[in-house]
Amino acid sequence: MTQQTGLYIAGRWQAGESEIENRNPSDVSDLIGLYAQASAAQLDEALAAARKAQPLWWAAGIQKRHDVLMAIGTELMARSAEIGEMVAREEGKPLAEGKGEVYRAGQFFTYFAAEVLRNQGDLAESVRPGIEIDVRREPVGVVAIVSPWNFPVATPAWKIAPALAFGNAVVWKPANLTPASAVMLTDVIAKQDIPAGLFNLVTGSGRSVGQRLVEARGVDAISFTGSVPVGRGIAASAMANMTKLQMEMGSKNPMLVMDDADLDLAVAHASGAAFGGTGQKCTAASRLIVHEKIHDAFVEKLVKAAEAFKVGHALEAGTQIGPVVSEGQLNQNLDFVAIGKSEGAELLTGGDRLDRATEGYYMAPTVFAGTRNDMRVNREEMFAPITCVMKAGSYGEALAIANDSEFGLTAGIMTRSLSRASHFRANMRAGCVMVNLPTAGTDYHVPFGGRGASSFGPREQGRYAAEFYTTVKTAYVAAGSPE
Ligand code: NDP
Repeated sequence: MTQQTGLYIAGRWQAGESEIENRNPSDVSDLIGLYAQASAAQLDEALAAARKAQPLWWAAGIQKRHDVLMAIGTELMARSAEIGEMVAREEGKPLAEGKGEVYRAGQFFTYFAAEVLRNQGDLAESVRPGIEIDVRREPVGVVAIVSPWNFPVATPAWKIAPALAFGNAVVWKPANLTPASAVMLTDVIAKQDIPAGLFNLVTGSGRSVGQRLVEARGVDAISFTGSVPVGRGIAASAMANMTKLQMEMGSKNPMLVMDDADLDLAVAHASGAAFGGTGQKCTAASRLIVHEKIHDAFVEKLVKAAEAFKVGHALEAGTQIGPVVSEGQLNQNLDFVAIGKSEGAELLTGGDRLDRATEGYYMAPTVFAGTRNDMRVNREEMFAPITCVMKAGSYGEALAIANDSEFGLTAGIMTRSLSRASHFRANMRAGCVMVNLPTAGTDYHVPFGGRGASSFGPREQGRYAAEFYTTVKTAYVAAGSPE
């Protein structure tokens, strides 16, 4: 297959007004390709095409929508090795994770293919005699999707699948760091028998294409995943147009390790969640709050686990942690290491750039101990293979530290105590709580999202996704008496 590098607008692949280089972060000499950047006029064309296509798609009915979503999901799963290799090559996650991500993206489509067939309505008796009421869900219209680079196929999939399932049209702006994955996902969608303009890919920078998209009056709803500062700007743009909005942003996920925990399991889950995906997950375990009775033993094992990870080229067999996604992100990570040290955190391992056979953005898994919750490394999202350990004298103190954050995406506890686990489930202020599990790793059929600065608007995924991708209409019908 010839690899596309363009935009997909109004049912046609197009060149952009300019191009950017896409390079492999495991080996910067590997030029993946030159990828199109959309012009303002091309974005406007995509929005107009989406507006025209949306009613046709809605009118095509549920069997058609089911069939299309099922075909997309099935093809993604069948091609997960091929597309996953591209994800690994351009984003830097190990090959197995790239394949797993694409397979998961397929599952989002097959799940929502089934959801298309679910009866979404309600019936009600009226308080007035002779009147019947029904409540139906209708599409919101044209949905703008703005997605990040860290899950370049799965994140857009969990937005695009429900958007199409519920009868909407889509204009998608992916992250400029991962255009090849975006093109491959688009290729799978574009080959379906769907109205021209129903699905549009407009690659380009956030500052230009992204900003224009979220300010556009032709957008009915915006779904965004990314950083808090960009999210704040998008919220302001959305409010100006009264556009429906859903955002999933930063995090600072805590994991409590109690004195009654299975220590080896706790170390495995903490290190996996902290360093998996090079720490570039919104669900990464970045604050490890450890009971003082087992603190030293836990830290010793954690450092050993961090040092045992094989950091290397994402496409090389045996690699467990790939490179950081970009030079900018690597520099930001190293800045956080310097900030942690200057705040008095104790650097136990890592903290530096690593050399490998190819020139890439490799960084050693990094553990800070002796940290306090008021340090910047415990308050700001780093999106790095860096985790910070804090000591707590009791479960209550650990919970208070965990809840002392502007974020609230995921949170975990490692304990054998039913009462601590139950109390944690009920009192941890987070969108997802995990008991004896890593903070990262969620299912595709249930809601995902957070509280506080981590999320805004209705939840994503599972049947809760209907809240965002549909609008409710209440119909009152007085049938009258038959003649
Ligand atoms: P951003 O929030 O900058 O980018 C996310 C998406 O928004 C990208 O598609 C980006 O485009 C786009 N964008 C950027 N500026 C605008 C704008 N003004 N209007 C509309 N869209 C815009 O995240 P980054 O990818 O740059 O990562 C920076 C930090 O964000 C990370 O270090 C991490 O802390 C956090 N992050 C958190 C994620 C999470 O899941 N919690 C996911 C990704 C990032 P483009 O990339 O093309 O500029």
